Amino acid sequence: MSQFAWLTLFALTFGLWQVVKWTRATWNTEGTTNMRKLAKLGLIVAIVGAFGAIAGTQLMGQAATAEQAATSPATTRTDGIPKLLDLGSKPCIPCKMMAPILEELKKDYVDTFDVEFIDVGLRENAKVGQQYGIKLIPTQIFFDKDGKELWRHEGFLGKADILAKWKQLGYDFGGAKLPKIERWEPAKKDERTKEQVCYMCDGDVNAKTAVVVKTDKGDVRLCGLHCYFIMYSCLTEDKTGFEKRVSVADYATGKMIPARGTTYLCGREEKTGRPWIKAFSSRDMATKEMQTNGGSIVSWAALREDELSHRCGFCDRACYPQDVAKVLIDGVHSYGCCAHCAMGVAARTGKDIEVRQPDGLTGEMIVVKTLGGKITSVEPSTAVAWYGKKKTADGKWVSAGCFHQGFFVTPDNLRKWLVKRPFETGTIIPIQKSLADKMKLSPKQIDKACKIGECAPK
Ligand SMILES: [Zn+2]
Ligand SMILES: [Zn+2]
Repeated sequence: MSQFAWLTLFALTFGLWQVVKWTRATWNTEGTTNMRKLAKLGLIVAIVGAFGAIAGTQLMGQAATAEQAATSPATTRTDGIPKLLDLGSKPCIPCKMMAPILEELKKDYVDTFDVEFIDVGLRENAKVGQQYGIKLIPTQIFFDKDGKELWRHEGFLGKADILAKWKQLGYDFGGAKLPKIERWEPAKKDERTKEQVCYMCDGDVNAKTAVVVKTDKGDVRLCGLHCYFIMYSCLTEDKTGFEKRVSVADYATGKMIPARGTTYLCGREEKTGRPWIKAFSSRDMATKEMQTNGGSIVSWAALREDELSHRCGFCDRACYPQDVAKVLIDGVHSYGCCAHCAMGVAARTGKDIEVRQPDGLTGEMIVVKTLGGKITSVEPSTAVAWYGKKKTADGKWVSAGCFHQGFFVTPDNLRKWLVKRPFETGTIIPIQKSLADKMKLSPKQIDKACKIGECAPK
């Protein structure tokens, strides 16, 4: 403690003693009214308070000095190997989320680097936080093998980020390495003509469900009305009168008819609940089809309402819940039209999310949780992401669009999926990267995400 602090404490004690003496003397004076007694008591409190304030300021000054001292790198005792020290407290949520990560690191990197957790909330560790000069919990401090601080971080830090940081600091502990799975040329040449390929999903255009949209640049052909509504939902232009340009195939004859004023028969696939749509130029034909194969007759307006009711929480594209990732944002349910869009919901909302994305091959569930824009858990931990990319006319590799992305329970599932999808090009990436890529986007870039012309297949 500084000289000034001692002086203040002395003054405070002396002052208090004087005040007590004076109070006793006046309190006993006859004729003093209760009001006067109270006024005097108030004065005493004020004097003591003033002394307390001076002493308090001084003590705060002391604390500030301690903090400043600790901003220079800390040191710690090590066993001759680098060390990761996490200072936290059991009840804090980010600290809780770090606990299993620290356990995993401890197990995976035994004898490579030390992992220590100190609960600074415990009475016996009261001084530890001050010793390391931490301002927030959790704080992670990276030490070299001699115990010299290399770097520190405040808040939650994921496993991949910890390993990446070690690498950046010159320590390659070799995290979980992904097998090299990539394809830069389609495995098979696509022999289909432009008319046979859906503009939106690259699937086959079926003559009984085809949709054609007239545009200034020529006709756009789509495999069905769902792909049309996906396109419609991500158009940025003024959509007034847009629907006049749309024609659909008559399910009975294959003849193209205007989309508005047509009779629609809608139903659901028994097992998945996924909707199907058939268009008819004649109501009689629709009724006949309904009698044999079920469904209900729906107007164009009602159909559109239904088709646009479920949207991607990242890019706002229309989607069927049966096809896409479920995203939980602070207890509110949303969707991700593809696995990467699902991760993007964290970037768009700035919230912590839980993503449930089915494996692209088997439909097995992959559950990803985030905190503060970082991944806290991936289940199963073997899961990987596929980043579908395509080459533009000027030779640049860009996203191949939402229909060409996916998560897989294991790299092996991704390999099998690629065998079934010979036209896909792109590369395997860790799920952590899928989120990190989205977190890097500016609000402006997020606003433009997946709008026609951005990442839609040409
Ligand atoms: Zn399509
Ligand atoms: Zn999306």
